[in-house]
Amino acid sequence: MSAEIICVGTELLLGDILNGNAQYIAKELAKLGIPHYYQTVVGDNIERLYKAIEIACSRAKILIFTGGLGPTPDDLTCEAIANYFNSPLIERPEIIEDITQKYAVRHRVMTPSNRKQALIPQGADILPNPTGTAPGIIWQPQPDLIILTFPGVPSEMHRMWEETAVSYLKSQGWGQDVIYSRMLKFWGIAESALAEKVSSYLNLPNPTVAPYASKGEVKLRVSAKAVSESAAAELIVPVEQQIKDIAGLDYYGANNDTLASVVGDLLRQTGETVSVAESCTGGYLGQMLTENSGSSDYFWGGVISYDNSVKVGMLGVNPNDLDKHGAVSSIVAEQMAIGVKTRLGTTWGISITGIAGPTGGSETKPVGLVYIGLAAANGNVYSFENQFGAMRGRSLIRHFSACTALDILRRKLIKNKQRCPGL
Ligand code: ATP
Ligand code: MG
Repeated sequence: MSAEIICVGTELLLGDILNGNAQYIAKELAKLGIPHYYQTVVGDNIERLYKAIEIACSRAKILIFTGGLGPTPDDLTCEAIANYFNSPLIERPEIIEDITQKYAVRHRVMTPSNRKQALIPQGADILPNPTGTAPGIIWQPQPDLIILTFPGVPSEMHRMWEETAVSYLKSQGWGQDVIYSRMLKFWGIAESALAEKVSSYLNLPNPTVAPYASKGEVKLRVSAKAVSESAAAELIVPVEQQIKDIAGLDYYGANNDTLASVVGDLLRQTGETVSVAESCTGGYLGQMLTENSGSSDYFWGGVISYDNSVKVGMLGVNPNDLDKHGAVSSIVAEQMAIGVKTRLGTTWGISITGIAGPTGGSETKPVGLVYIGLAAANGNVYSFENQFGAMRGRSLIRHFSACTALDILRRKLIKNKQRCPGL
């Protein structure tokens, strides 16, 4: 028995408003453990509303409507539902009374058009609206079908959901189970490669594992259904551990962890510090590192060395190497990292120098070529050549550069920790 959310409103189809109601209800359904496979958005048009109801009835047993309960002629939800199930609309005096009182409080008189909001299908229960004029309905037009309607105004809908719908759905046997999820996060591996590695987990019934990818980051949502959050969490623990073992260092964190927060935690554990020398990212890496409160424990600062004169003057990059190899080169990346680490006195120095484009590329140094330098605590210096791809565009190339720099440091810190577990 699954639910379908049907949001009514031409403004949704035109893109004028975001479908926040669907997002809200979707989360609430997950909390109650009600399966939910389809969402529909339909305009203020009676024929298309009939069609939407017909389709929803063929694949769901709980239909949840938002929008179109207002007093104006384009508000058609209740009429469409009643007509579809051949039920007359009955004017309910208690709704007229409620609307009259709400108007009276504001020293206003109810308009004739509001009478429309008092019409609900015969046999339906009123789903009270404490703050607005349009009530919703709770109705079983057929033995195996439940219909709930809510106004479109999110604040009204939320309150009606919390105060009436949840207890109604619980009385129908829902809400005994909860769905609890953990989002596992990965960097440095493509979605398809990770999906292949964990393919045997992608068809599990409970917990389920689903991959997502966005801006270079890959995520696996692990969701379990059980009688309580802790029971669901217990189902997730072994699967999460097995996935982490398979992914190795490509796994970096879960839920609200970010690459920067994970790097920060690792540095804090050993009392180490980091500074940055940035060229094509123009401070983006520093921004990421300072997104977490308390980052001054481990992040000391940086140099935005956009122009070569700053690379030489502030970071001590050798002008001959700049001439010979160019600013976008492994040797300059390494000298930038050493320069910032030495001048700022930190344990680690990271540098980024590359071509974010769209201009400035050449045949030998195309747009998307980025060198990342790392000056390590023990005096070693590394550089990493990356090709993030011109077609990704400037903004993503910069994003990939900063994330990859953090990831390089993260991997080094973890390897150091594994070598010296006592640290
Ligand atoms: P009203 O009595 O205000 O006319 P209604 O039930 O007829 O309420 P709509 O007219 O469809 O609802 O929507 C009222 C307002 O609620 C919209 O202008 C919009 O701001 C908001 N709204 C409607 N649907 C959604 C939705 N799916 N997600 C977020 N906001 C919505
Ligand atoms: Mg309306």
